[in-house]
Amino acid sequence: MKHKNSLSSLHFDHRFTTSLPADSCLEPHSRQVFSSCFSWVKPMKMSDPTLLIHAQEVADLLGLSEQDCLSELFKNVLSGHDLLDDMRPYAMCYGGHQFGSWAGQLGDGRAMNLGEVVNAQAEHWSLQLKGAGPTPYSRGSDGLAVLRSSLREFLCSEAMFHLGVPTTRALSLCLTGDLVSRDMFYDGHAKDEQGAVVCRVAPSFLRFGNFQLFGARKDYDTLKKLLDYTIQAHFPHLLQDKANSVSVYAAWFSEVCDLTQHMIVHWMRVGFVHGVMNTDNMSILGLTIDYGPYGWLEAYDPDWTPNTTDAEYRRYAFDQQGDISCWNLIQLANAIAPLVDDVSALQARVDAYRADYHQVWATMMGQKLGFVHQHHQEDDDLVQALLSLLSCVETDMTIFYRCLANIELQQTAEQQLAVIEDAFYDVSLLTEADQQRWCAWFESYATRLEKEAVDDGQRRIQMNTVNPKYVLRNYLAQMAIDKLEVGDMSLLHDLLEVLRHPYEEQTGKAMFTQKRPDWARDRRGCSMLSCSS
Ligand code: AMP
Ligand code: MG
Repeated sequence: MKHKNSLSSLHFDHRFTTSLPADSCLEPHSRQVFSSCFSWVKPMKMSDPTLLIHAQEVADLLGLSEQDCLSELFKNVLSGHDLLDDMRPYAMCYGGHQFGSWAGQLGDGRAMNLGEVVNAQAEHWSLQLKGAGPTPYSRGSDGLAVLRSSLREFLCSEAMFHLGVPTTRALSLCLTGDLVSRDMFYDGHAKDEQGAVVCRVAPSFLRFGNFQLFGARKDYDTLKKLLDYTIQAHFPHLLQDKANSVSVYAAWFSEVCDLTQHMIVHWMRVGFVHGVMNTDNMSILGLTIDYGPYGWLEAYDPDWTPNTTDAEYRRYAFDQQGDISCWNLIQLANAIAPLVDDVSALQARVDAYRADYHQVWATMMGQKLGFVHQHHQEDDDLVQALLSLLSCVETDMTIFYRCLANIELQQTAEQQLAVIEDAFYDVSLLTEADQQRWCAWFESYATRLEKEAVDDGQRRIQMNTVNPKYVLRNYLAQMAIDKLEVGDMSLLHDLLEVLRHPYEEQTGKAMFTQKRPDWARDRRGCSMLSCSS
């Protein structure tokens, strides 16, 4: 019997494009677009689309079977080569602050939304192709993406999801069959790379920058339309208890603060560094979005950034992410302030954010250490002492917390230090004084743990639910890219599979938990990345 492809019967809702003003110009050339939330676009025809990998769990959300995903139609549609009859592709218009300065209009320069799929559970899932050709927001660039960055986006979105970090999802990774020229390190050495398209999936791809652009242009009419739409479509509960539309905006901002904080604290928990926290890369749903030159802490270094463009000022370094999220929220508050009568409510929310952030972060750190109950001052001191020790000699963050779960309370401090020894890159670098500091820390830690009414085994289980064993180590992503570039897909598939269960001990997967090898220390793509993709 012929397979009936569910892809062709997906149900689309076009509420974004039917509710909001469209750019009346249908031409693809780069331009400033005013009083419009989006422009209609067409994906490019590709030479030879092929599907490299898909995430079945994301396909399941849309009601697509494995067989649907392996079809001709799937690879053609998910690479942008063909459109389904009901798809209405558009690029969103937004602006943003880049590295602290207002950059004006940016917009979806290499992303195209295909529409929102409404699944059997009545959930809305927006589909978006990244790398399917230029749009009016491409600003002279090609609107394309290359394999290495697309693979990084595909794998990392799925890894983050399984780690429990709010994120956009990735349905598929396709090769286009076309070559794309990229100067990876902006040093005049452009080279042809394989073109690729990722299909991202999220309830919405709206960013802080969508609201900021209209605020900056004093186009309060369009700003109000976008805000009312957003609340209606994505925060409808806010309309139930608030009759007055002005206070609804402040309530909305407050909720965006909550969602953002929740996401950032998860980043800090798993050691993720986004790398480009510009306001155009901040989702209003608190989803990790726009995987570019991101990275994972291997050796714990709070000042680390993977982004070469940020190497000098380290604005988006690991430890800055909480403060920067607050700065970004202030820009969002400024954008909507003209629509809010009581601006002091926005100010008060931002003030609360700073205090709350520390509290939520401290609770999360306590959980990483196995504390169920909080003892504020004492725990703060213990955490600060630990973070200072972790950065004193190179110590692998992920391995450290997994080893820490294995200590036993009846062991001596020296024995406990031996339990975490595997986390040090070079244990011989620990001086006598370092060892004494570690032992002193273990003594305080053990005293603190005695206040928790759990035994060693229970504590280990609890800690292993918040401290992952498997993360997308920078060098592993690079190895998957290197293999794929010579046609070997095995590591990509193995990584996706391992990263689906990041907290479980998996037999035969030790190679995915290894500290960064020496060859990767200064290798481009492993320790530093550029935005060029
Ligand atoms: P990003 O650093 O990925 O957040 O991108 C910042 C802005 O540059 C966004 O407006 C992107 O759409 C745009 N952009 C980045 N790369 C390209 C490209 N290859 N072609 C067109 N626009 C791009
Ligand atoms: Mg972006």
